[in-house]
Order: sequence, then structure tokens, then C-alpha cells
Amino acid sequence: MSDTPKAELPKRRRCGPQDIAGLMRTIFSAEDDDITCGECYEHIDEYVDMLRAGEDAATVLPKVKAHLEQCPCCKMEFQAFVAILEAETETNRDEEQGA
Ligand SMILES: [Zn+2]
Repeated sequence: MSDTPKAELPKRRRCGPQDIAGLMRTIFSAEDDDITCGECYEHIDEYVDMLRAGEDAATVLPKVKAHLEQCPCCKMEFQAFVAILEAETETNRDEEQGA
């Protein structure tokens, strides 16, 4: 056994440049309200759950809402979450009455 092949780096959920842009904005505007992409991501499932439960997610998690509006990366994660949950719901529920 001689040389081992280079291990592939695992893909990480990171925003990359978005993170830096958000960081810069936080520094320059000195706002404490901004959350990071990591913090946002931690709450996305919660946020989506609340939306689906008909609760006012934007009021309870305003920071997540604000972040989703300004971060395309997290918005995509959010939309993916919604799509997955909606697909599950469609599978589980009986045929709904048409509008
Ligand atoms: Zn983000």
C-alpha cells in the first residue's frame, strides 16, 4: 500500500460569499438583529412548521423572516423545505376538494 487517494471534502451547507456580505453588513450597520446563515438554518424547519400550522411565523421568528428575505441561499433552503413538506402532505392527505 503506497499512497492513499485524496479524501474528498464533504460538501457543506454554507453560503460562502453571502456569509461574508452578511457579516460586512452586520459590522457596518452595527445591528444586533441580524442572524447568521447557520442560525437561520437552525430555525428554518421551525419556521416552516409554524407556517404550515397557520401560525404567525413572521411574528414569532422575525429574524428568520428578515434573513430569508435578504439571503437567497437560505431562501432556497427554505423553499426546499416547504417543497419537501408539501410533498409529504400530499402523500398523506386524502383527495382534497377542488376549489
Ligand atoms: Zn443565509
